[in-house]
Amino acid sequence: MSEKIILVWFRNDLRIHDNEILLEAIRKADKVLPVYCFDPYYFQKTADGIPKTGNFRARFLLESVADLRKNLRALGSELIIRIGNPAEILPQLAEEYQVNEVYHHREVAYEETDISEQVETALWKIRLNLKHFIGHTLYHKEDLPFPIKDIPDSFATFKKKVERDSNVRPCIDTPENINTPEIADAGELPTLQQLGLDEPVDDPRAAIKFTGGETAALSRLQEYFESSNAVTTGKGRNVSADHSSKLSPWISLGCISMRQVYWAVIKHEQETHIHTGALLLELLWRDYFRFMFKKHGKKFFANDDAETEPSARQHALFETWKNGETGIPFIDASMHELNATGYIGNFSRQMVAGYLVRDLGIDWKKGVAYFEEKLIDYSPASNWGNWAFVAGLGHDPRDNRYFNITKQATELETKSDFISTWLPETVAAG
Ligand SMILES: Cc1cc2nc3c(=O)[nH]c(=O)nc-3n(C[C@H](O)[C@H](O)[C@H](O)COP(=O)(O)OP(=O)(O)OC[C@H]3O[C@@H](n4cnc5c(N)ncnc54)[C@H](O)[C@@H]3O)c2cc1C
Repeated sequence: MSEKIILVWFRNDLRIHDNEILLEAIRKADKVLPVYCFDPYYFQKTADGIPKTGNFRARFLLESVADLRKNLRALGSELIIRIGNPAEILPQLAEEYQVNEVYHHREVAYEETDISEQVETALWKIRLNLKHFIGHTLYHKEDLPFPIKDIPDSFATFKKKVERDSNVRPCIDTPENINTPEIADAGELPTLQQLGLDEPVDDPRAAIKFTGGETAALSRLQEYFESSNAVTTGKGRNVSADHSSKLSPWISLGCISMRQVYWAVIKHEQETHIHTGALLLELLWRDYFRFMFKKHGKKFFANDDAETEPSARQHALFETWKNGETGIPFIDASMHELNATGYIGNFSRQMVAGYLVRDLGIDWKKGVAYFEEKLIDYSPASNWGNWAFVAGLGHDPRDNRYFNITKQATELETKSDFISTWLPETVAAG
């Protein structure tokens, strides 16, 4: 009898730990074929000429894939790397290696699900099944106290019910070794230039240096617990202190799982009696936006019928926002930080988004696209969901959460190092 081979298609789950598709493939098959495709779709420019992926995120992705390959090799396996459309590459590899089935983690946003559908159709033509797994959320879809169609649109109700009636599953075991077929051509990691991008310049003022990959993600989690950022009161966080974990780039690419973070927080609290639980509330926001996408699909922004061409004035205002030249110190410093590092904190995101939509009256989708290019932690459900919230288009009936803070931008005194990048030198020097 011939051996069973399962192809594991890595996408936004670039890790060995707590990875159901990898462990299931090891259990069900004689041999496992791990594959990552750099899909040119994500490296093209939008109709507005904006790159879909900026160089900070692209470099982070390259580092993450390299780290995954290193970790797979340590388990006796290999990662096949290809540049191209997964709907063409995966069937080719499946035929070459006589694969019996393909596993992947299901996505929710429409570009990602569209790609999965294309792969599914292409595999179907060669009589292969694409098996979908649920693995990106903290709470497993099947453990929610309601079917997806009945998930409460209000975050407060969602939180109350989920925390009361659901449990977070334990992490899945990390494999100890992986049997992989002999691979003739594993493929090289592309360079940034091959992806059409320049090397980013690291700014010394960046909050932290984000290095992609599971190894760096697990160290970052440890570092976070050792820092004062981790300590919060029972009531949660406030904007005057930075309690943020800076884990989002790794969470977005799946270099670390939400469950891994959750159980590390629980363990840390039990061992130290120091409250870090506010982080769990933030993770729940991530789940909420993902489940909203799952529930509403393309109708997520149903009440947004504005598809108007921006006027010349709006176009000019958008440029001042992008370049951090609005004249409002906090907004400008935040945009300089975003442009120079690929990361700004949640409060800054709310402020610059609110300012663009409310004060400048610019279509929020232009902000969405700009964040997609720039953010090192870009994640479709979190980006679209938060922007829709700011624009007042979410489904949460209380979604005016951010409205009152926009006016604060003019009043906020900023001590940001990034302020000096737009102030004339003499003024900046005081
Ligand atoms: C307009 C706008 C766009 C955003 N776009 C993205 C995006 O593309 N990708 C992204 O990961 N986050 C996005 N966020 C959410 C949030 O700003 C970031 O997750 C957070 O700033 C990341 O920093 P951190 O890891 O230190 O967060 P922490 O405060 O330490 O929170 C821990 C984790 O919880 C999740 N989280 C926290 N706040 C939110 C939130 N409001 N919505 C969803 N998840 C949250 C993140 O995974 C984060 O890593 C956006 C927020 C706004 C207002």
